[in-house]
Amino acid sequence: MLGEIFKGLVDLVFPPTCHVCDSFSEQSLCADCFSSLPLIDSPLCRRCGKPCHLAVDECRECRGRKCYFSTARSAGFYEGNLKEATHSFKYGNGRKLAPIFARLMVEKMEKDLGIDLVTYVPLSLSKERRRGYNQARLLALEISDLIGKPCIPALIQIKETVDQSKLSPRERRENVRRAFLSAAGVDIRGRFLLLIDDVFTTGATVNECSRALLAGGAKDVHVLTLARSL
Ligand SMILES: [Zn+2]
Ligand SMILES: [Zn+2]
Repeated sequence: MLGEIFKGLVDLVFPPTCHVCDSFSEQSLCADCFSSLPLIDSPLCRRCGKPCHLAVDECRECRGRKCYFSTARSAGFYEGNLKEATHSFKYGNGRKLAPIFARLMVEKMEKDLGIDLVTYVPLSLSKERRRGYNQARLLALEISDLIGKPCIPALIQIKETVDQSKLSPRERRENVRRAFLSAAGVDIRGRFLLLIDDVFTTGATVNECSRALLAGGAKDVHVLTLARSL
């Protein structure tokens, strides 16, 4: 009862708002912003999840490239209000968006992947300290609950990387090369892993993480991200 009164008072002074448009909203995303998220629909490249005119096994982007993950899927495009919401989730106080995002991601997951464990792209210690949380871990924890599989910290970052957003595709691959290692004391041998991240741009980061997971004995790695670039 007291808790409800307190919440009522807090809402009066700081009314809950949408993380994208700042309009009054009980939900972290208002109904308008939620319904206009640029979600991804099939047909897709079966491997990297890029939307194509026809479903293909490999598309122009992933053909000829060494892919360590078996499939990658994303909830939506990294543009418009999903880009804004992702930004708020990552750098602002948008942690409450995690359950909404996680549900959208699980809807886009391929069925029957046989996933045993959920894991996530780690942040370097200095970055996590600065930001206060790892957004990929928040998503992974929610997804772990939704699909009923344990979430484990299967990876560590062993090399400091620079912000990928300003780099060319080749520089991105160089930047993250050998940056991750499967974590000691976490047994992933023979397991099917679901690897979670927020944004898939060229796939360089999740590919390096998948390489590390396979080197740690994982049987198979599937990638699921909130957003991907066009
Ligand atoms: Zn809104
Ligand atoms: Zn592809």
